[in-house]
Amino acid sequence: MRCPWCAYLDDKVVDSRSADSGAAIRRRRECLRCGRRYTTYERLEPVGLVVVKRDGSKEPFERAKVVSGVLKATKNRPVTQEQVDRLAGKVEEKLRRRGPVVTSQEVGIETLALLRKLDDVAYLRFASVYKDFQEVTDFERELGLLLQKREPAGRASTAGPSRTRGR
Ligand SMILES: [Zn+2]
Repeated sequence: MRCPWCAYLDDKVVDSRSADSGAAIRRRRECLRCGRRYTTYERLEPVGLVVVKRDGSKEPFERAKVVSGVLKATKNRPVTQEQVDRLAGKVEEKLRRRGPVVTSQEVGIETLALLRKLDDVAYLRFASVYKDFQEVTDFERELGLLLQKREPAGRASTAGPSRTRGR
């Protein structure tokens, strides 16, 4: 590595340690001519995750697209940008385990699965606009599951009168 002080090309590594939770290796180097020190980081060259769309075309996976889709769905909902970023990170992580090629449908389903835990309304909004999830049957099935989840258990049978009194 060329010395940033004197441009000499030879150095020795004086310290080497893991950085960024193992995503990088940090090396402390000492120039063999001027003796000054500097630091280098060794990282993986990014490996591309490819998304196959329904029409068969391919494009690189972009986390930013998940973020923008989820942001639209969570507009005016109690969901923070940080939560959205974290969600998109988890989606990418899951997809990478299946990579290097995934389908756009998988991207949508993973996003939906995580969005459901975050916010019901955003989940339904996302489901309704998500192209690959637009088949009516899928959407209705998901909506059904969601409504089931919301129905308070056993309330309809016993607590009848108190329901209307409060209104
Ligand atoms: Zn030097």
